[in-house]
Amino acid sequence: MKKIAIIGGGINGLCSAYYLVKAGFEVTILDKGSITDGASFVNAGYVTPSHFIPFAAPGMINQGIKWMFNSSSPFYVKPRWDTDFFKWAWNFKKSATNKKVEKAIPVLKEINIKSRDLYMEMLDTMDFNFHMEKKGLLMVYKSEENQDHELKLAERGKELGLEIQALDTAALHKLEPGFKDDVIGGVHYECDTHSTPNLFMKNLKSWLKKNGVQFLLEENVTRFDIAGKAIKSVHTQTKEIFADEFVLAAGSWTFELAKQIGLNIPIQAGKGYSINTSRETGIKLPAILTEAKVAVTPMNGFTRFAGTMEISGSSSKVSPVRVGAIANAASSYYKGLNLTSEEKEAAASGLRPLSPDGLPYIGKTQKYNNLSVLTGHAMMGWSLGPISGKLIAEIISDQKPSIYLRPFKVDRF
Ligand SMILES: Cc1cc2nc3c(=O)[nH]c(=O)nc-3n(C[C@H](O)[C@H](O)[C@H](O)COP(=O)(O)OP(=O)(O)OC[C@H]3O[C@@H](n4cnc5c(N)ncnc54)[C@H](O)[C@@H]3O)c2cc1C
Repeated sequence: MKKIAIIGGGINGLCSAYYLVKAGFEVTILDKGSITDGASFVNAGYVTPSHFIPFAAPGMINQGIKWMFNSSSPFYVKPRWDTDFFKWAWNFKKSATNKKVEKAIPVLKEINIKSRDLYMEMLDTMDFNFHMEKKGLLMVYKSEENQDHELKLAERGKELGLEIQALDTAALHKLEPGFKDDVIGGVHYECDTHSTPNLFMKNLKSWLKKNGVQFLLEENVTRFDIAGKAIKSVHTQTKEIFADEFVLAAGSWTFELAKQIGLNIPIQAGKGYSINTSRETGIKLPAILTEAKVAVTPMNGFTRFAGTMEISGSSSKVSPVRVGAIANAASSYYKGLNLTSEEKEAAASGLRPLSPDGLPYIGKTQKYNNLSVLTGHAMMGWSLGPISGKLIAEIISDQKPSIYLRPFKVDRF
């Protein structure tokens, strides 16, 4: 039986293991942590055909410059002397054009829909238990400027065949009575679903263990051994792991690891935070508060408020000011909602792996014939986990991939 070693046990590593086990491979997952925290645990749990616009879009650079000196802004780029950051930013700038965004839109729509359907298929298999609801996602606004923008996007989404309803003030407040009066309307992406990430991760991990996957936790991969065009083994602080095929799914840390073996896979970490409350909020539907860029999700047993895109390196330190800004934003949209100091103090962070063009990296490298890379999913990593894992299993099994892989080429920069 062919042996596969996966570096990284986030949603992408675990979903790869799931499909690789189903395809009959012997799988080992290595993670420098304990697979209990980080982006794959703190995210908003959205599965998002609605997110068909890549992060690298026109306007983002001006927005970043505008908010650079605001300590509570939802988007923040820390100015710093770092050649890798400059190169990433340059590629981001080249990607943030209308032409490139138009090219990315159908690609993102297709991959998101396929992944949403795979989540549903996973539910049907009953391999493991998880929470997934199809209540859609509301994009709500207070200003006419955001209303115009969101209604235009909704028209574009409808042209793509997505199920979307524009809601006026009365219709929105009927659907979600908890909104304050100054929330003037919203767009309901009925095509979206949502889930509870920590439950999914925990139960998938147990299923994988039961099905023979070996977990090597607190093992930091620091080095690769190469023989010609092949990776022979990887080294951690205590072990050397041999395998026939390797999958690099190390999220925001992938760039540094890949660089060691001569690969250029530009990634910057986009830090975000989430705050949970298990008190009754009355919130029924997932919603993005568009002016504040805060995501709200009624999860299994608690409500989560998530936000901030902070491009400031790979520290996971929590900024109380930005956490406070997320909590204040939530209070300004919902009646009677006040997050307590304990809830804010318990806020956690996660690093989104951002590629410069907003598209993930999925596939084999040209340089090594037994190394696949899976990262760069940015704000869609949760949504795209199942399809990404399935594609990795198809690539390693030499099967025809479920979707056209060229836009996700690993060596494209
Ligand atoms: C606040 C927030 C909200 C979000 N909301 C959503 C959402 O609603 N929907 C959505 O689709 N996406 C969302 N995202 C994005 C999504 O969470 C990420 O894209 C996704 O979790 C990335 O998964 P990953 O498996 O690629 O990386 P990670 O989850 O970061 O996993 C990578 C793993 O690799 C391990 N690793 C790294 N280096 C090494 C090494 N050298 N040796 C061994 N192990 C290593 C790490 O310990 C980590 O466990 C959100 C993110 C944040 C922060």
